[in-house]
Amino acid sequence: METKTIILFVTAALNLALALIVYSRGGRNLITRSYASAVLSVSAWSFGHGMYALADDRSALFWFYFTYVAGSFIAFYFFHFARVFPDPNNASPMSITARLSSIGFPFAASAGLFAPQVLIASFSQTRQGAQVVFVMPSYLFYTGGFTLLMGWGFFHLLTRYRESTGRQRSQIRYVVAGTGIAAVFGSYFNLWLPLTGNTHFMWLGPQFSLFMIAFISYAIVKHRLMDIRLILSRTIVYSLLLGSTLVLYTMLILLAQRFFQDKTDYITSLVIGSLFIALGFEPLKQLFQKTTEKVFFRGELDAQRLLTELGEIFSTVRDLDSLLKSTAQQLIQGFRIERAVLVALKDNGDWTSATGRGGTFSPPDFQTDHPLIKYYASAWPGPYLKIPMKREAILEEDLLDIPQPTALMDDMTRIRLLSVMEHLEAAVSVPIFTKDQLSGLILLGHKRSGDSFFPSDLKLIEIISRQAGVAIENARLYQALQQQMEELKRSQTQQLIQSAKLASIGELATNVAHEINNPLTSILGFTTLMLDDMGDHDPHKKDLKIIQGEAMRSRDIVRNLLDFARKRGIKKELTDLNQLIQKTLNLLRHQADISNIHLKEEYASDLPTIIVDGDQMKQVFINLLKNAFDAMPAGGTLTVTTLAHGFNGETTPSMMAEKESGFPGKTIEIRFQDTGEGIAKEHIPKIFDPFFTTKEGMGTGLGLAVSYGIIERHGGRIEVFSDVGAGATFVIKLPIKEETALSY
Ligand code: ADP
Repeated sequence: METKTIILFVTAALNLALALIVYSRGGRNLITRSYASAVLSVSAWSFGHGMYALADDRSALFWFYFTYVAGSFIAFYFFHFARVFPDPNNASPMSITARLSSIGFPFAASAGLFAPQVLIASFSQTRQGAQVVFVMPSYLFYTGGFTLLMGWGFFHLLTRYRESTGRQRSQIRYVVAGTGIAAVFGSYFNLWLPLTGNTHFMWLGPQFSLFMIAFISYAIVKHRLMDIRLILSRTIVYSLLLGSTLVLYTMLILLAQRFFQDKTDYITSLVIGSLFIALGFEPLKQLFQKTTEKVFFRGELDAQRLLTELGEIFSTVRDLDSLLKSTAQQLIQGFRIERAVLVALKDNGDWTSATGRGGTFSPPDFQTDHPLIKYYASAWPGPYLKIPMKREAILEEDLLDIPQPTALMDDMTRIRLLSVMEHLEAAVSVPIFTKDQLSGLILLGHKRSGDSFFPSDLKLIEIISRQAGVAIENARLYQALQQQMEELKRSQTQQLIQSAKLASIGELATNVAHEINNPLTSILGFTTLMLDDMGDHDPHKKDLKIIQGEAMRSRDIVRNLLDFARKRGIKKELTDLNQLIQKTLNLLRHQADISNIHLKEEYASDLPTIIVDGDQMKQVFINLLKNAFDAMPAGGTLTVTTLAHGFNGETTPSMMAEKESGFPGKTIEIRFQDTGEGIAKEHIPKIFDPFFTTKEGMGTGLGLAVSYGIIERHGGRIEVFSDVGAGATFVIKLPIKEETALSY
């Protein structure tokens, strides 16, 4: 078989492939059907030429004429394609004449198939091809009909081109360019040149359809021509382009051979041709690979780089917001997309979202009832349900397709998700799962190149989503830890402030106390002397008693002050706090009875003994008990509780919390809970301050300050919980040293 014949068959095959792809992937609407049929006719046209080259004298005429019939169908289908492209709903109306003539043309041409002699006057086949002489009027009719239909088609496309914008505009451009080249050159070699009686070059015509194939494939891949999302791998694109290039290239060589043959002998031309191929092939191949790379994959992402950069972010960024922001930014750069939105579930159950830098697009609001979140979260299958896992990416394009009866998504969901994605301008949505829980979403905007997302893109984004899941989880844990640390710091600072306040006031108090103590001692001494000397009925005795009473109260205050400020060491003794509390309560039982206060005692049976200063502890208990009594003037209940934490390997949640806050594990807790008037919120921070009192004229405001100092010196802590009207609870926590615990 001659090379040019092989080329004709290859061209026919390539056209057939394009027709099949368009037909099978294009949703079978009017556009794709008419276009696929036009390309199929091109394929038949090329095939006819190939068969003609192989035919013997008898069948040659048939195949020769067959090409004309195929040609008439090309014009017919192209005319109809141009009428409905790019929007079938916007097809231009067709007059009866146009309709009839468009149908009439291929039928009239086909009729000639049975009587070719009507169209072709003389026919002789030579070694280089057929020598054909046409009968003029009928051939002119054919030429006219073909040109008219094609011309009208192009005119229509160009009009549409001027009116359209965006993606449609570029789609039309490629259709016009591809089919234009094929039509002009095809017509030249196979329609007009034969008019002059030269049919030598007719085999060249079909090859120009390769331009059409190239342009249309390009537009399908890059601009979703005819809504075909064709996913071609790099290798297929290379081979397709290389194939068509080789065909064109060989064609050139054949032409060159023909050119040289006139001047030199056949062998020389063959040598020149082979040299041409040998020298030209490799560089040409490389040139095309490079061009293909540039044209088709220019916008393609560097997966490895993107993963490395994201890995860096995932392992270093600990703040959830910055994590989402930087990830979105990387995705925008990596995928070359318009925008990216990262959504994540926060620790408190709210959703947060972030976008990459740049643009005025602000992160959209996400709630648990957002359709996308509901879609992914609700569909998680139970152990026995065979619901497909909704973990895959959703492509906006897929949502646009009319659903098949077997679709996993009902139509309502599809429409809702579609409108949400359109609103967010997202082309792809990928869920992020952590430990089988939906923990976030990745939303990718459209590619700036207008390309679709390739399967390789989706695979990559799924890998990224898995890594992002781990990163989000880490960020959340880290944030929780951070919060705990901050709380700890805050409470520690508060304690420090309290201690500092006490220390400075203590110093001041000591000085004042000493100054007051001396005159007070004199006042008390002299008053006592005077009272001793005084007769029972002395009118001044009452006044003097008041002086003595007030002086004694002042002395108590001073003593308290000194106690509070004194930094004497703790008198250490092994003490049973249960017993100590009971002893202290015994002092007050009578008063409780009179005041109508019910004492409830709940002692831990396993309370270990502890080394404390018993006297000082007693003072603390008295202070707290007295305050509780004061708070319940009309009676109530006072509950005293003792608890032991951290013994017998027991681990309570509160002990865990203590451990985290740096407080020793084994503790004794004593609670004084009253049902009194409670403490106002604004007073709570002040009650441990010296001289803070709400008992006008009655209190000194020193009881709690002194108690605080004592507990602090024991390494413990005193806390208060209270609400107005709901009573108050004072909690003392005392740490136990290891050797003490052993003595238990
Ligand atoms: P004082 O009892 O002399 O006023 P404290 O230092 O013992 O001094 O107490 C300071 C203030 O704390 C009290 O005046 C009172 O307002 C408040 N307080 C202390 N204990 C209680 C309690 N159990 N119920 C309500 N308020 C209390």
